[in-house]
Amino acid sequence: MKPPAGPPTIPSLPRELRSVPLRTIAPVATLALLVFAGWLAWHGRTGWALAALACAAPAAAATWLSHRRAVRLSRAGLLLCLAHVAGCLLSAAILGASALPWSLLVLMVNFFLVPNRIATPANLAMVAGLLALPGVLRSPAPDLQALAVIGLILGFGFRFSRRMHGDRTRLELLASLDELTGLPNRRALEKTLTQQIVSTRQGRFRHALVILDIDHFKDVNDRYGHTAGDNALIELAAILRSELREQDKVFRFGGEEFVVLAEAGNRDALARFTERLRQSVQQSLHGPGGGITISLGAAMYAGEKYWQDWFSRADAALYLAKGSGRNSVVVADDLA
Ligand code: GH3
Ligand code: MG
Ligand code: MG
Repeated sequence: MKPPAGPPTIPSLPRELRSVPLRTIAPVATLALLVFAGWLAWHGRTGWALAALACAAPAAAATWLSHRRAVRLSRAGLLLCLAHVAGCLLSAAILGASALPWSLLVLMVNFFLVPNRIATPANLAMVAGLLALPGVLRSPAPDLQALAVIGLILGFGFRFSRRMHGDRTRLELLASLDELTGLPNRRALEKTLTQQIVSTRQGRFRHALVILDIDHFKDVNDRYGHTAGDNALIELAAILRSELREQDKVFRFGGEEFVVLAEAGNRDALARFTERLRQSVQQSLHGPGGGITISLGAAMYAGEKYWQDWFSRADAALYLAKGSGRNSVVVADDLA
């Protein structure tokens, strides 16, 4: 039989959630600034039109960045914030108080785009700019209504944004943890492996992937019930946690399969490490019917471009370990 192929990737929920406001607002802001530039050029105000185009440039860059998968969204958010502030100050400088509604909209929107630590100084800088410009907020007389609305937007925006970012952090945490064992789940593993490949390719660490699978686990469920099976999974997670060094990470991949991402200097060190894991599980893991064992397949990182290929080698080694009678370890050859 052929060893199983690498697992398919599951969609990354948190990243999708984070990018929605950016992906929606960045093109709209770019378009608005381009229309403004066109309107100014139409009225023969070429210098101002060029300034508006300069404001549209970071918004366009943010649009492009927010649609790229690998990009850090915070960079796109920062650029868009910058474009917003510059665009609003420009329109207020040209059109005076009649451009104020745009600024109010942008003050609120900025809080949805970027964390408070960026939105707050950006918004305060914008309000300071609006106050400094003649004929907008303070002259001929202070526009108290506008100032009150701005104050309320800053207050509400700050509070809602803090709540929203807190909820998102909690959601991200929940989405990355396995409910039964409390270990990081498959989603977290995929994210970690993707990052790991990048840093390992840069030659910073020697890493190994170890896949562990409980032997004959179906029998435990069939004979002693699902709760006994669940308890064995919880116990195995605890054993793995206690056996691993601080630099190693363990994940529940799914079902009765766990994955360890471990630092290992070479193949021999990996063989010793995995054998130690096998032995300690054999000694410590017990179900209602007696001892429970695991089989392990391990592979050193061998320059793969995609983590799925690395995972496939460890999985193929696990397949061999199962084939050799279970309760055993197979370490894949170093060559991919
Ligand atoms: P092998 O030695 O070849 O790995 O045999 P196995 O019985 O361990 O493997 P198999 O894939 O046939 O069965 C896996 C079992 O794991 C079947 C499923 O009911 C059980 N399982 C998967 N997830 C859970 C869970 O969260 N809780 C419990 N109790 N059982 C689970
Ligand atoms: Mg299995
Ligand atoms: Mg199994």
